[in-house]
Amino acid sequence: MRHFDLVIIGSGSGNTLPDERFSHLNVAIVEHGVFGGTCLNVGCIPTKMYVYAADVAREIAESSRYGIDSTVDKVRWSDIRDRIFNRIDPISEGGRNYRAEGSANITLFTGHAEFTGPGKLSIALNDGGTEEITSDRVVVAAGSRPVIPSVIADAGVPYYTSDNIMRLDDLPRRLVILGGGYIGMEFAHVFSALGTEVTVVARGEFLLRHQDETVATHFTELAKRKWDVRTGSPVKACETTGGGIRLTLADGSTAEGDALLLATGRVPNSDRLNLDSAGVNTHPDGRIVVDEYQQTSAHGVYALGDVSSPYQLKHVANHEAKVVAHNLLHADAPRRVDHRFVPSAVFTSPQIAAVGLTEAECRERGLDYVSAVQDYASVAYGWAMEDTTGFCKLLADRETGQLLGAHILGSQASTVIQPLIQAMSFGLPAREMATGQYWIHPALPEVVENALLSLPLD
Ligand SMILES: Cc1cc2nc3c(=O)[nH]c(=O)nc-3n(C[C@H](O)[C@H](O)[C@H](O)COP(=O)(O)OP(=O)(O)OC[C@H]3O[C@@H](n4cnc5c(N)ncnc54)[C@H](O)[C@@H]3O)c2cc1C
Repeated sequence: MRHFDLVIIGSGSGNTLPDERFSHLNVAIVEHGVFGGTCLNVGCIPTKMYVYAADVAREIAESSRYGIDSTVDKVRWSDIRDRIFNRIDPISEGGRNYRAEGSANITLFTGHAEFTGPGKLSIALNDGGTEEITSDRVVVAAGSRPVIPSVIADAGVPYYTSDNIMRLDDLPRRLVILGGGYIGMEFAHVFSALGTEVTVVARGEFLLRHQDETVATHFTELAKRKWDVRTGSPVKACETTGGGIRLTLADGSTAEGDALLLATGRVPNSDRLNLDSAGVNTHPDGRIVVDEYQQTSAHGVYALGDVSSPYQLKHVANHEAKVVAHNLLHADAPRRVDHRFVPSAVFTSPQIAAVGLTEAECRERGLDYVSAVQDYASVAYGWAMEDTTGFCKLLADRETGQLLGAHILGSQASTVIQPLIQAMSFGLPAREMATGQYWIHPALPEVVENALLSLPLD
């Protein structure tokens, strides 16, 4: 039985751990799927490359408001797809080869790992056979996978998830998207901008219902203008039609498409690791329980990323990976993770970005807060863009003036929000932030400056 100093399960964020600082350790990486994990192969990167193409198509379609008449003549879906995967696939392949052949102290196992006891693992190799190994320490970075609702699984109808929809051969004429979360809304933008008729079916009253209420209500209204949006009515049945699918909703209405995309959330892959045998505890929702050092309930076992995180975001997984790498090397001086101000963005149309508390969370916590909403249309760059829908909403503590939450809906929201993330992370009060620095005129962040100034603080 081979013994390792460290075994890492998962080649997504887990693969970022072993750098030159680990060269004295005998390390194994185990990966049962495509090397490089979700973000690179089926997540953040390919989706944002599609979103960029979709944004260009939408700009062209809406250019007449600037006095430029133009139309999208043709969308070459397979060229869009190949631009993306011809870049990504070699990166995955290169990363795999580097780990398989390039590092003397690293062994790559291509197969599925499961615990068989404390410090013991069994690997079912993809090309057959089993490898039993032991390790002093284990990092579980096994990620998450799409949820398949039982109403769809039981019906036996064909469907796509984010894992395979981006590799389609042809753009579907009509796409039904089940789920009103961020993955569904990003794909709704991509497919509709590229010419597909999109129907969105969501259980809740609002799309993106975990966002601040102002954002969720506003976004849902905007979405209803572009897509066939069905909210507040769960799916009761699903069947195939000649070449397509039909969903029947609780209110009796139906939604039909040529293809069905399931975007109803993701579950941690913790249920496929036989964690009990190693004494690794999980939360009721399947996430591995970790402390502030990313240590699990089992001695020497760490977890990071989607398999343990409620955020399911790549920048969180990356941060946790850095903390775990440090803690593996410096057990005597471990670092804590910092989850105080985790930002997120939805690359739909319009873009959405958020950090900190929503207004509902401020109310639930009984905080004494003030708020301000500043429209993109109130600043010169907003005029340049003819923007009529974007806004920046801020929430701040009335007494201290510290920002509690920031929510932006509008063009480049994921970039415009960055100074607010910085201010919250470093404790810069709203007034000082607004007045203690220059704001480039007439750039989009003036909407942030004005929102800060609009906060009714003394
Ligand atoms: C469509 C989509 C879009 C996204 N967009 C964004 C975005 O814009 N911004 C953002 O921050 N986040 C985004 N995310 C989320 C982000 O991709 C994840 O949070 C991140 O990739 C999680 O990293 P991880 O290392 O925890 O898991 P992963 O990258 O999933 O790595 C886990 C790896 O472990 C392997 N594995 C699992 N179990 C085993 C086992 N038992 N044995 C061997 N191997 C195993 C898996 O095959 C996988 O390769 C997106 C996700 C999706 C699906």
